[in-house]
Amino acid sequence: MTLDMVTPDEALGIVLAHAPRLGAETVPLAEAVGGVLAEAVAADIDLPPFDKSAMDGYAVRRQDVARVPADLAMIEELPAGAAPTRDLAPGACAKIMTGAPVPPGADVVIRVEDTEALPDGRVRILRAGVRPNICLRGEDVRRGATVLEPGRVVGPAEIGVLASVGRERVAIGRRPRVAVLATGDELVPPGAIPGPGEIRDSNSFSLMAACRRAGVPADLLGVARDNKADLRAKIGEGLRRDVLLVSGGISMGQWDLVPEVLEELGVAVRFAKVNMKPGKPTMFATHGERLVFGLPGNPVSTLVAFRLFVWPALRKMMGHPQPAPPPIDAVLADKASVPGDRLSYVPADLQHQGDRWQARAIETRGSADLVGFCRANALLVLDPGNYTPGTRVKAVPLEL
Ligand code: AMP
Ligand code: MG
Repeated sequence: MTLDMVTPDEALGIVLAHAPRLGAETVPLAEAVGGVLAEAVAADIDLPPFDKSAMDGYAVRRQDVARVPADLAMIEELPAGAAPTRDLAPGACAKIMTGAPVPPGADVVIRVEDTEALPDGRVRILRAGVRPNICLRGEDVRRGATVLEPGRVVGPAEIGVLASVGRERVAIGRRPRVAVLATGDELVPPGAIPGPGEIRDSNSFSLMAACRRAGVPADLLGVARDNKADLRAKIGEGLRRDVLLVSGGISMGQWDLVPEVLEELGVAVRFAKVNMKPGKPTMFATHGERLVFGLPGNPVSTLVAFRLFVWPALRKMMGHPQPAPPPIDAVLADKASVPGDRLSYVPADLQHQGDRWQARAIETRGSADLVGFCRANALLVLDPGNYTPGTRVKAVPLEL
């Protein structure tokens, strides 16, 4: 077991080196959002599939409106979804709605605002601009052309593209299945009033939420009590997932039995401590291809460690092209003071101001102060010391 303390950068490097890219899975479109494409997607039809009107108005022949006003015979009405029944003869026009197919023979759509309906049923064209107001078949994408590349993160626009090219299912990087396990004799569920010495389990729920926001499915394993038998059973269950997150029980206390039980179950510990504040008691182990994170029990520390180490690992596993984006360059808006002797991740408010990011450290009461931490949307990466306003700093965004 590596008892050596690693730096946060080293820890991230070790985690990413051990996080496997999982294979692909094919999922229905609605479930693909947040995933990473594992295939190239080609258009099965031209887009748009036919010459389509971009305006509500009248489809006409350009020669017929070379001089205006011009009075044209109206031969048919074409709402979206209709198919033209005949070609447009000289001197004729068709009433057409946005999205409807332009009839053969027509090469311009005149906006309805530039026309006037005559009492005899004909249409007077008052003005004819140079723009055809027609989206030509295949002008966006030709049939067979690649519309999305592998490695692309699927957002709402990509989902729309997939639907447009006829895809009801798509291959994305398989998302790791995570197990969340809280440990501690003192923990009671949110629905209980804590008795003497008890506190409510919040890590189970904050970690489940963090997984959900990362777009990976997670199972709550409940609370393991601080005894080896219970820990062995629940950790054993958790080791059947791709990733196990255990919170608490990894510090130096007499009842901090998680590292011992993990080793008994045959996991390989990759690091046992990280030289940072908060989150020093963060451990990482592997069990074959599976990853185990021992996260600190303190509610703020557990979320900080999740953000710094678990989140990038989950992203790498699901095929994300950039699992660990670099911190943001920001400037301090106020002074800040960082006590202690370790690199600190200081809760902060990060805002875009003018052309740069400005950060303000947020006073909290420490790694148990989850209420204070709620006001932060970033972590400032700061060595101990005193900082004046205007200092350039690195910020790790939290709201992802
Ligand atoms: P531990 O690492 O087990 O010594 O826990 C450190 C601190 O975090 C203690 O004050 C615990 O009560 C608290 N803690 C541990 N697990 C949880 C949890 N699931 N929810 C809220 N607080 C916790
Ligand atoms: Mg504990």
